[in-house]
Amino acid sequence: MRTKVLLITSIAIAALIPSAQARPFEDPRADRIAAIDADTAFQAEPRDAACHAPVLASTGGAMPKNPRTLAVRWTGYTNFELVYNGQIVLLDAYFDRGSLYPSLGFKAADVRKADAILIGHGHHDHMSDAASVGARTGAIVVGAPVTTEKLATQAIDAKQVRTVTGRGGEVLQLGAFKVEPILGEHGDPPAQLVGAFDAALKATTPGPTPEQLAEQATIRQRGTQDRRVRNEGTIAYLITLDNGFRIMYRDSGGRVTDFEKAAMERVGRVDLGLIAVSAAYLNSATVAQALEHVHAYKPDVYMPGHHDAPFNNLWRSTEPLFQAVKDENPRTVTVSKGYREPTCFNTEHNISRSR
Ligand SMILES: [Zn+2]
Repeated sequence: MRTKVLLITSIAIAALIPSAQARPFEDPRADRIAAIDADTAFQAEPRDAACHAPVLASTGGAMPKNPRTLAVRWTGYTNFELVYNGQIVLLDAYFDRGSLYPSLGFKAADVRKADAILIGHGHHDHMSDAASVGARTGAIVVGAPVTTEKLATQAIDAKQVRTVTGRGGEVLQLGAFKVEPILGEHGDPPAQLVGAFDAALKATTPGPTPEQLAEQATIRQRGTQDRRVRNEGTIAYLITLDNGFRIMYRDSGGRVTDFEKAAMERVGRVDLGLIAVSAAYLNSATVAQALEHVHAYKPDVYMPGHHDAPFNNLWRSTEPLFQAVKDENPRTVTVSKGYREPTCFNTEHNISRSR
């Protein structure tokens, strides 16, 4: 009898809110115009600023209302902010890029809250603000030996720094984030191709002023030029949240290594891939490299990084990658947004659970 009453009640509720069963479509303006969502399943839920406002949680923006919501923001090159379960994890830290670059809308000094910074590799365009942000926030800062050697020369307490090799068996449990460093490989686009494009750009655009050259030299000093970066210093991070949601982060568009293959053989697939686009300029080459990454990690959702550029250089186009990825697997979701725009995930839906 009790079962019957419950059944009738649930049917009655379903009849009252048919919109809860199927959302007819997503209007891209819904981010800006709350009324567009008014007749959808979300009408009873107040909008979550963490999933709408272009403000990083680390610079004072909202944390997601639901601890199971993961908010992801891209902030240029391969910087991403992950916010989940009350924690903030920054992937790479290259925010003060100088006047040759479009502004990200915030400065390194604005980043006041972070639990961890995972540095993919030690070139300046990945780690130049890691020490200052780490010192200000008290975040744990993780990187390869060649990266943490550089951090040791900078103003950050050594107690906050963790050195990893990515050669297997390393696990960092950072609250709800389980982080496994995996040795990757730095991108190595053909020098002849890159040289020709760079020469063409130099010939057709105004050069930097002496002030801008000095500014760039200062920023460059906050990273390393060590040759070990390529084969010993580029770390991919496999991140597993406490409910099984998996993220692969890869901050350079190099070849997939045996270490990465072994890790992926173990876990199968990831829910989200945050993956650097190769620097090889030509779409044929960037697509081939993106497909190798996607074949290895099999992400449900593919978000590219490292595709923006200084004013007088070329952004790496993401649409050709998205098209190639979807030609192979139409179910892959591709997402690329502007600086600081959030993408939110209900992490309770994840691959490890549906197996
Ligand atoms: Zn690099």
